[in-house]
Amino acid sequence: MTIKSFHPPLRTLMGPGPSDVDPRILEAMSRPTIGHLDPVFVSMMDEMKALLQYAFQTKNALTLPVSAPGSAGMEMCFVNLVEPGDKVIVCQNGVFGGRMKENVERCGATAIMVEDAWGTAVDPGKLEDSLKKHPDAKVVAFVHAETSTGAQSDVKTLVEIAHRHNCITIVDAVTSLGGSPLKVDEWNVDAIYSGSQKCLSCTPGLSPVSFNERAVERIKARKTKVQSWFLDLNLVMGYWGSGKRAYHHTAPINALYGLHEALVILQDEGLENAWVRHDRNHQALKAGIEAMGLRFVVKEGERLPQLNSIHIPDGVDDTAVRSALLKDYNLEIGAGLGVMAGKIWRIGLMGFASNATNVLFCLSALEETLGRLNAPINRGMAISSAHKVLG
Ligand SMILES: *Cc1c(COP(=O)(O)O)cnc(C)c1O
Repeated sequence: MTIKSFHPPLRTLMGPGPSDVDPRILEAMSRPTIGHLDPVFVSMMDEMKALLQYAFQTKNALTLPVSAPGSAGMEMCFVNLVEPGDKVIVCQNGVFGGRMKENVERCGATAIMVEDAWGTAVDPGKLEDSLKKHPDAKVVAFVHAETSTGAQSDVKTLVEIAHRHNCITIVDAVTSLGGSPLKVDEWNVDAIYSGSQKCLSCTPGLSPVSFNERAVERIKARKTKVQSWFLDLNLVMGYWGSGKRAYHHTAPINALYGLHEALVILQDEGLENAWVRHDRNHQALKAGIEAMGLRFVVKEGERLPQLNSIHIPDGVDDTAVRSALLKDYNLEIGAGLGVMAGKIWRIGLMGFASNATNVLFCLSALEETLGRLNAPINRGMAISSAHKVLG
């Protein structure tokens, strides 16, 4: 047997991530590998910090890309800010809030769950009630952009409530960073994590994180050692702090070239312009989807522009449609997760993939496929409806 090189097909990625990677990023990643303590690499990482601070809209000195996917950024926040015996309030309105609970419990702490229906935003009133019932809670954690449902929550309000009750906040911004308004300093977020492969359109495997002074003080005042050696910020700060960089782990050099390029692309477009673009393409997709007679899962006002969840019409076979899109169009859209499996589709318009061509391509492919499978939809209106929005 001779195994040959692996050549993946060229797909259009319109699921919940990874999103299409800008060819500029892939090209940047193929540049020569150098040492991670090489002064040239170190100055690239200084630029990376400034670019991440811009993307997060923060001046936090402790802003860095964790050398692992979004889930590791999540874990870094929890293992550093939560100690055994702590009480942590976790707001859950989808899959990722459930993962936060897992993290809290593995830190030896107690998770107090504040549950909202999947497909809705986190209810600030419920958080307030829970904080009144648990005055000894130390941390509040929630997801800004719930990728499993397409709902977005009001970070500013939730953080205000948490601070009024003396809690520090951990926010999941994996899907929001670069796609919809996120202002870490203005909203007073204490600890936040994201991912490289959603609206930054980089390859998967890196997790930008940022911690403010209040979070750093909490970490320095810990009574117990962080149980994860790799994610212990006290050690990571040795590499990231100013002055001489000490070896902590070998950075994923070429992957970081990719993230640097992704952030340069974001800087060149302008953060606000990127938010406007994501919103416009969402409006165009929505016009086409609704013209077909399909319905959104999340109510208007709580919808994420970068993740559109749509009810699968009655009698339509979820897998048959997604397989046909993949086979006939090389188009990937997302399936439902957890309780929403088989009931919804998730169409991502993230980063580089959020463009007018993809909107029109996805609408045509979906309409043709659903028509061929005799699904009950209106035909012939989707493209013109989307065009009206795109101008
Ligand atoms: C994708 C995602 C994660 C996990 O990121 P990975 O890079 O897959 O580990 C966490 N939270 C949210 C909201 C996500 O969308």
